[in-house]
Amino acid sequence: MTSLDDQTSVAQLDRRGLMFILSSPSGAGKTTISRMLLEADDEIRLSVSVTTRPPRQGETEGVHYHFVDDAEFDRMVEDDGFYEWAHVFGHRYGTPKGRIRAALKEGRDFLFDIDWQGTQQLYQKDQQDVVRVFILPPTIEELRRRLETRATDDGDVIEARMERARAEISHWDAYDYVVINEDVDSCFAKVREILHAERMKRQRQTGLIPFVRELMR
Ligand code: 5GP
Repeated sequence: MTSLDDQTSVAQLDRRGLMFILSSPSGAGKTTISRMLLEADDEIRLSVSVTTRPPRQGETEGVHYHFVDDAEFDRMVEDDGFYEWAHVFGHRYGTPKGRIRAALKEGRDFLFDIDWQGTQQLYQKDQQDVVRVFILPPTIEELRRRLETRATDDGDVIEARMERARAEISHWDAYDYVVINEDVDSCFAKVREILHAERMKRQRQTGLIPFVRELMR
C-alpha cells in the first residue's frame, strides 16, 4: 500500500459529528460566514428547524423549515422532540432532536445560526457535541455602519437593533471561541480552523480505538 492510500484511510476514520453554533449580534457577519462554511464544506449542513409559521413565498418544506400545525408542534413538545424551542413573533420555532441525533452518530455535522438563548439551551441538552463560536464586530461604529447600509429602516429601528446588538454582545463569555470579524475572509478562515480542529478531538474520533488497536497489534 502506498503512503497516499494510508493517508486516505486515516482521513476516513469514523468520527462523531458535532453541533457547530455560530452566534453574533445582527450585522457582525454571521450569515455570510455561515453561507461560506456551508458552501466550502460538504460534511456540515444547516439544522432545519420546525415552525408553526406558514411558509413564505419561495420557501420549501424540509429546506427552509419543517412546517407543522400547532397540534403537531404540541405533540413534539410532549414527546421531548426538541433540543430547544421558543416563541418568536407569534409563532413557535424549535430544533428537532431525532434526525440530528441519528446523523451525529454517522459523523455528520450541523451548523446552527442561533442566538445566545438557543445556544444555552442546546448546550444544556448536549454538552459533548456542541461547539460554540461567537462573532464580534471590530468596533461598535462599524456595526452601526453595517446595520445602516444593510437596512432600509429609519433611525429608530437602527437604534433598537443597536440595543439588541449590545445585549447580544454581553453574552460573549458563554462561548468556547470568539472571533473578531475585521475582514470576512480571515474571519471565515478562523472559523474553519476551529471546525477542523474540533473534528479531531479525541473523543469525537470514534474510529481511533480500532485504529490504535491495529497499530499496537
Ligand atoms: P423567520 O420566521 O423570519 O424565518 O425567523 C424568525 C426568527 O425565529 C429568527 O430570529 C430565527 O432566528 C428564529 N428561529 C428560527 N428557527 C429557530 C429555532 O429552531 N429555535 C429558536 N429558538 N429560534 C428560531
